[in-house]
Order: sequence, then C-alpha cells, then structure tokens
Amino acid sequence: MPTVYRSPYPDLDIESVDLVSYLFSNPLNTPLDKPLYIDAITGEQYTFGDVVRRTRSLSNGLRQSIGVKPNDVISLFSPNTIDYPVVCHAIVGSRAIVAPTSAALTYRELNAQLQTSGARFIVVHSSLLETARKAAKGTSIEKVIQIDGQTPVNNLPTCNYLASTFAPADFLAINPSEAHRQPAFICFSSGTSGAAKGVVITHQNITSNLQQWRTHMLDSGLPHQRPKRDSAIAFLPVSHIYGLNVFLCQCLIWGTTVVVMSRFDLDLYLSCIEKYRPDELTVVPPIALLLVKDERLAKYDLSSVRRIGSAAAPLTRELAAALEAKFMDMYKTEVFVTQSWGLTETSPVVTSIPNDRMDKRTTGVGCIVPNMQLRFVDPETMKDAAVLADGCTEAAEIWVRGPNVVMGYYNNEKATAESFHVDEEGKRWFRTGDVGTIDRDGYVTIQDRIKEMIKYKGMQVIPSELEGKLVDHPDVEDAAVTGVWVDDMATELPVGFVVLARQARERNLKVVIAEIDSWLNERVANHKRLRGGIHVLSQIPKSPSGKILRRQLRDSLKSKTRSR
Ligand code: AMP
Repeated sequence: MPTVYRSPYPDLDIESVDLVSYLFSNPLNTPLDKPLYIDAITGEQYTFGDVVRRTRSLSNGLRQSIGVKPNDVISLFSPNTIDYPVVCHAIVGSRAIVAPTSAALTYRELNAQLQTSGARFIVVHSSLLETARKAAKGTSIEKVIQIDGQTPVNNLPTCNYLASTFAPADFLAINPSEAHRQPAFICFSSGTSGAAKGVVITHQNITSNLQQWRTHMLDSGLPHQRPKRDSAIAFLPVSHIYGLNVFLCQCLIWGTTVVVMSRFDLDLYLSCIEKYRPDELTVVPPIALLLVKDERLAKYDLSSVRRIGSAAAPLTRELAAALEAKFMDMYKTEVFVTQSWGLTETSPVVTSIPNDRMDKRTTGVGCIVPNMQLRFVDPETMKDAAVLADGCTEAAEIWVRGPNVVMGYYNNEKATAESFHVDEEGKRWFRTGDVGTIDRDGYVTIQDRIKEMIKYKGMQVIPSELEGKLVDHPDVEDAAVTGVWVDDMATELPVGFVVLARQARERNLKVVIAEIDSWLNERVANHKRLRGGIHVLSQIPKSPSGKILRRQLRDSLKSKTRSR
C-alpha cells in the first residue's frame, strides 16, 4: 500500500458547481456597490454590480453578435486591465473555453500557442492588436476581436461595446454533474518536459481549488488571525494560474477590491499600497527581494501590511526573514511572510500556511489543502520515500491527487500519459516534477525540481523551446538550456550552452555570442532571454538515448560559481 499524506484539516464536502455560478451567485460575494476592479493609474473602476452586469451582457453579445458557441476555444491576449475579468468570465459563462496567453509573447510564440489550442477567436487588447493579427495567420482563428474602445475594429464590435449595449442575459447553464468535465481554461505549461502544452482546467478543478483554498486561507483560525483582505494590488499577470485564481476568482468571493496594474512598477505599487491599504500582499520572490532592498519603501506608508504571501517559485527562508525584519524595523509591527506551492496542473494551490499556524510559516510551503493526497516517491525506484528518524521523509518526487488536479493536456494523450502514474488500485497520481519532503506534522518543503522547466521571476521558461530556436541560428550546431539559481536576484536565470558551427569558431567569440543573443532576443518574450549568459561547449552532454544531461550542465555552472 502506498504511503499517502493528507491535509491536517478534514476533507470538505466539495460543492459540484461551475465557475460563474460559484463566483457570481455566492451569498458571501462582495456587495454589489463595492468597487471590485480599479485601474491603478486612471482610477477608472467597476463595482461588483458593474462586473456582473457587463459580464452577462458581453456573454450575450459574444453569442449573438460574434457567434461564440459552446466549447469554442478563445485565446485571451491582454495585459491586466479592469476589463480582463469581464471578458474572461463572459467567455466561460458562454460555455466556451478561455486560453489565457501572456501579454509578453512575440507573434511567433503566440502563433505556436494558437496552433496548440486550435482557438477559433482571439480577443485582444488594442496595444497587442498587431501582434495578434500577425500571429493569427495560418491558424484556425476566424476573428480577431478587440477588447477596449467603443468603435468597431475591422467591422467587428469591441468587447466593451458589446458589454455596454447588449442586454444582460443568463449564462449558459452547466449542470453540477457536468462541472467536472466541462473545460473552463486552457493554460499553457511545459509540464515535466518538452514543449508548452495546453493544460485543460475544468470548471470543477477551479471551483474545487477555490473551496479548498478558502478553508485554508479564509476560514482557518480565529477572526483576529484572519487578514481582512479588503483590497489587493494585482501586478501578477492574470494570464497565469496564480494571478487568475487570486485576482479573477478568490477576490470576488473574498469581497476584495482589486487594484489592477498592467505591469510592475515599484513606485506605482508602493503608492497603491499607501492609497488602498491592503493588509496582504501577493508577490513572487524577486518582488520580495525588491521590498527588502529598495530604499523607495521609506517614502511610502505601508503600515497596513500584515501578510506577504509568495508563490510560483522558491522563496528562501533568509529572504522571508529579512522582509519580516524590514517591516518590523519600519513599523514595529509583526508581518508574516508565507509561502504557497502549486502548479498550473493543480489549479493551482496544493499547500499553504493556514491562519492559525503562522508559528509554522518558516517550515517550507505549509501544509496540504483539504481533499488532496500526496505521495513522496523516488523517481528511480518508484518506491515511497523512507521516513527518517526525525519523522521527516527523505526528499523525493511529489505526486498529487485531488479534485483540483487536471485530467491532462489538450489533444496530447502522450504527454498526459507520461505525467500521470496509475497505481495498483487504478488511482491516477500527477507527477509534479518537484522534489520535497513532508515532516511528521504535515509541513512540506520543496527542495529541487527534476523537471526541465526554468522559472524566471515566477514565469515559466521552457528549455526545449529555446533550444529549438537556438539551433535555427546558422552559427549554432547544437544547443542546450538550463537554469541557474542566483541568490541575490531571488530567481533562476536561463543559461544557454551552444556548440558553434565551424565558420563561427574562427571568428571573435564575444561577437558571435552577442550576435546569437540579440538574434534570440528578437524571437522570444522578454522573460525568456538568456540572462544567465551563453557558454560555448565542444559538445552538449547527452545520455546514450540522446537526452540532454541538464543536471550535469547545472552542476558545471555551480562549480564555476564556486571557483570564481
Ligand atoms: P506553474 O505551472 O507555472 O505555476 O509552475 C509550477 C512550478 O513552479 C512548480 O512545479 C514548482 O516547480 C514551482 N513553484 C511554485 N511554487 C513554488 C514554491 N513556493 N517553491 C518552490 N517552487 C515553486
């Protein structure tokens, strides 16, 4: 029998429900007249009532005027704006599927995602219209629909026009019994290896995670231990599952006013904290580092902050402690810095620190949310990790099961089969590719990642994608990409290794590398740049079957850093 670890909290009786019903018909929702989304720069805002009405109107308009049908995939290509949630929920409420796409993508990268998702429409912010049009060529996109503005673009009404002119209509019903199989989102992730894949997140996956996280984060502990979460500042991209879950979903249920930033700017962020006084900040580790180091913090009143929650990449204990010390120093108040762990494939939260366990916040990424089961398995022997004398397991790959774990990847049975393990009892376990431990009290730590994925400031960088591009350069014969952790940036950086073609070897190496670097930068989103450098090798280390030995490359970087 496998050794299975569960939440210290009892399992919930999870409600079977689709996303829009759960978000918009929840008795605990924000009052209708409370501002729900506020633009950080212009101050333009929608109350919860506006959001409900506009979402229903847009859903009607998309069906009547654009011809959106159930199960159509619609790519959503926009930075964070106050219209984003309306568009997202209007599509989902029309029984169609949103494929949220990072606003940082180049047209080639977007084109690849459109091919993967087979999207019928792309809904796009005006600032990205040209990129979307170029990307749509040669794909199944039938219409490019602009979100903002009131006047038609290419003879098509904008989403904002539809939202303000169509009558609010009922969403297309999804029976509770269908919620577990009806897709709501196709999010992109590399999973454990290979190219970006479409992660199919059903209505029930996400509504389950909202319920699981809610007990952990909102209902646990005594009232005085719970943050009020009256306002939140959203700079994390809502096209990623972390921002999507927190700012497009949780905040509606928690009654939180969301101040929307379309990109990160420290002064704007700090001035929003001063003005809107959130008691909790939602960050990624490099922002935690900035908060510790940047002197501009002293210029603003940040005294409302009581919690800082980080996720999406590892936050070191030293950095968390430094951030707590900084707030103590500035305001003589205790601020708890906490960490959650999750993945796109788990919609996303698997572990976090409940309100009444703040004394254990230094123990890694917290404890398992209700209704989830975890196993810690040696990926070589496929045996459960041994429990050591101190009650903690040995480090091993973490496998997960639960109502928030997705069924698999869109139109990709091979990748789906490779990512799940079916045990003797026929139970499916998702193999996270993360290595960690669990202690006798149920606290999880993440120690390593055995999958290929690199995380630059919480954003995925997929080595095989960059390798595929690098070998297209005429001076590159072979290439490999891996990540290197840089403590004083609190992030991994993507690093390239190339074997140069003969004609390039005879030229000035520095010039050749600089050329390859700028050539690549023109073809990839900003976060995928090889900020860790490009190294020249005589050959890329590979296994007999031709697999790149990334660990060997990573280790070679560590020894280089040590010998410097
Ligand atoms: P994504 O699907 O983009 O959310 O990426 C999921 C991956 O991010 C996980 O499998 C981890 O490798 C990493 N990750 C997320 N949260 C944490 C955390 N708190 N500590 C360490 N790694 C994390």
